[in-house]
Amino acid sequence: MDITRRELISTIAKTGVPAAVAVSIGAPSLHAETENIPVPSAAVGLLYDASICIGCKACESACAEANDTPPDTRGDALHQAPNDLNDLTRNIIKLYKPEDGSPASFVKRQCMHCLDPACAAGCPFQALHKDPETGIVSWTAEECIGCRYCTITCPYHVPRFQWQGYNPRVTKCELCSTRLEKGLRPGCTNVCPTGAVIFGPRTVLLEEAKQRIKKTPGKYYQERVYGEFDNGGTQSIYLSRVAFGKLGLPELGPESVPAKTLRWQRRLYQYFALPALLYVGLVQVIRKSLKGHEQEAHEREKETGLRAQL
Ligand code: SF4
Ligand code: SF4
Ligand code: SF4
Repeated sequence: MDITRRELISTIAKTGVPAAVAVSIGAPSLHAETENIPVPSAAVGLLYDASICIGCKACESACAEANDTPPDTRGDALHQAPNDLNDLTRNIIKLYKPEDGSPASFVKRQCMHCLDPACAAGCPFQALHKDPETGIVSWTAEECIGCRYCTITCPYHVPRFQWQGYNPRVTKCELCSTRLEKGLRPGCTNVCPTGAVIFGPRTVLLEEAKQRIKKTPGKYYQERVYGEFDNGGTQSIYLSRVAFGKLGLPELGPESVPAKTLRWQRRLYQYFALPALLYVGLVQVIRKSLKGHEQEAHEREKETGLRAQL
């Protein structure tokens, strides 16, 4: 029996999360909906729990290995030590350490696989697109003209552009989709020693995150999952003790960036409608008045001509 790509990814996703989760929620419905954006039927993603991340960076090396990227030693000639996402780094662990002594936290940054991705909405040639089944947002070299709009439109500052070379690429996490197609889990989730990052269907991950919140009241910031509704919902979701904003996850509200932009565009057009109508009216008045003048002049000419002939 042939297995479809969707079934394959869904199966890996299901086996990629702790067994306890699968047991506790049974067969998940993959047709949930956030406030304004439909969730792809086989949406998969990552759950990162900053509270149990020990900052070992094993996920960084595994990501580089999975994506066959050369070591990024530009910041440190001896070690692979990128300090942010860049053209060679799709996944990074950062440290938030406030000076006032309040709790520090690691944070993993990679593509959020937004339900309504601004990078794809802003791309004029659909070089970035969201898979309608798995929801994975990927980049296609053949469609890309190198305009770099995606590096500006992404509210998480994720896509990075290669500045060197004749055929530069846009790099970002694609949820290791080539590994998923081979029946493997994403590289980062394969090596994490604490289970701080796990892979699975979005509904399962959300349920797992909510269980963690329920089991340890008062532990997590605002007792909420970042990405459930934020920015219209994302497929990489987060738990943290520290305010999400401090970890570089902006508070964008439940409306996605493309939806917000569309609303403002509509409003702008609305405000432009009245001046445009006035302008059209004015042009009509001027035209009529000119016509009247022309007619008058014509009649006057006719009159003058007649007089001259007399
Ligand atoms: S899913 Fe793959 S590409 Fe994305 S951060 Fe993990 S290892 Fe890197
Ligand atoms: S995080 Fe940025 S790059 Fe990733 S899907 Fe969302 S808008 Fe696109
Ligand atoms: S491998 Fe796991 S614990 Fe280590 S830095 Fe990455 S997410 Fe944190």
